[in-house]
Amino acid sequence: MGAVTATDLVKTYGAGDRSVRAVDGVSATFAPGRFTAIMGPSGSGKSTFMHCLAGLDTVTSGSVTIGGTEITGLSDRALTSVRRDRIGFVFQSFNLLPQLTARQNITLPAELAGRTVDPDLFEHVTGVLGIGDRLDHRPSELSGGQQQRVALARALSTRPEVIFADEPTGNLDSHSGAEVLGFLRDSVHRLGQTVVMVTHDPNAAGYADRVLILADGRIVRDTGR
Ligand code: ADP
Repeated sequence: MGAVTATDLVKTYGAGDRSVRAVDGVSATFAPGRFTAIMGPSGSGKSTFMHCLAGLDTVTSGSVTIGGTEITGLSDRALTSVRRDRIGFVFQSFNLLPQLTARQNITLPAELAGRTVDPDLFEHVTGVLGIGDRLDHRPSELSGGQQQRVALARALSTRPEVIFADEPTGNLDSHSGAEVLGFLRDSVHRLGQTVVMVTHDPNAAGYADRVLILADGRIVRDTGR
């Protein structure tokens, strides 16, 4: 069983002549502890596919399971708790709260869920990410690469079943981008994290264990097969 499984996933936007099958019958399994990149030209359905996998968008038909739980068809409320408890997100824009320190940003999701971050895990993750001496700084006092590492620490510190990353290096220079991708890969190989990343950058995809290529809403190539 995979950490994440999509079966015959279809997502259609619009109706009638103008409808677009953004995801056109995709089945794929994302194994635990692996780093998968989803690539493809602009408009090929990468973002839509990831949003359906992560429960950020409804599907037209087919199903998605995360850690054995089918999320398609869950109520909004149940889906919110799946996203909160079992999924980590890393976006192109770092989405840190400017008025909080790095430490507070990292622990916020767990606190909102009424939990505390395991201190050993916190120390390990911030250590691996090299931000241990930046924790009392606000985002504006950090470089882009450091901010993205804080976002990654935030995603990792809830021990999510899977991390979805959407163009995580899109706002970074190539040096910081390489650093963040290296850390993402380390989180897979050293912490056993499962990562699914959307990118249009072949360099970024080079860090992944497996590359899925989409065209017109279908998988046209899968290096994992
Ligand atoms: P990618 O991430 O690969 O660039 P998208 O998933 O954003 O591709 O888009 C796939 C297709 O679905 C495109 O044809 C796009 O125009 C269409 N699409 C995406 N989102 C919407 C939406 N909210 N409404 C209508 N069409 C959409």
